[in-house]
Amino acid sequence: MTRALADVAIEAADCTKCRLAEGRTQVVFGVGNADADVMFIGEAPGFHEDKQGEPFVGAAGQLLTRMLDEVLGVARQDVYIANVIKCRPPGNRDPQEEEIESCTPWLVEQVSLIQPRVIVTLGNFATKFVLQTAQGITRMRGRAYPWHGRTVVPTFHPAAILRGGGESSRQFLEFRDDFELVRETLATLDRAPAPEPAAAPEPVIVPDAEPVPEEQLELF
Ligand code: URA
Repeated sequence: MTRALADVAIEAADCTKCRLAEGRTQVVFGVGNADADVMFIGEAPGFHEDKQGEPFVGAAGQLLTRMLDEVLGVARQDVYIANVIKCRPPGNRDPQEEEIESCTPWLVEQVSLIQPRVIVTLGNFATKFVLQTAQGITRMRGRAYPWHGRTVVPTFHPAAILRGGGESSRQFLEFRDDFELVRETLATLDRAPAPEPAAAPEPVIVPDAEPVPEEQLELF
């Protein structure tokens, strides 16, 4: 029997696979539509997310919600939003190797059950993790990458936009452009016949995307 996303969330709520369990208020599993076409993946919950149990509810989340509304024309509950790491690292420190390893199966189950057509990675950490690249977000953003029969669109972390001057910054315009790219990618997919696994939607895919290692392919 196929597990529903809600069952996985219930199981994850008691997760003690790594030491982040000790300091968290609660597991921040993910939120949104379990059948979403678009999934957003951030790094890890922060202070507000840990308290409220929902990803991207602080100032960065408000910017994300605004981009969804203004550029994609969708409500927050129409997409799915999650993080690579489901529990808040103390003091918002970087997630450690063993924490990433312990938490990866939850993200794998989320992607497998939701089957999003487009995944938007928010910031360096999520982009490097999902696309298994050492390249930073400034190099990676602005393009769409074929990934396991889906498309990944990397963009800046909304918190980085807020730290870097908000709407008056060049990064904000690029961030907005990336959301336009998501919209165009979805429109292209809507027009295309049902894609073969690993088929690349045409206009937005770069030919020199990083190859995905074999072991990562097996995960999703
Ligand atoms: N930053 C993230 O990466 N994720 C959140 O949920 C909140 C802030």
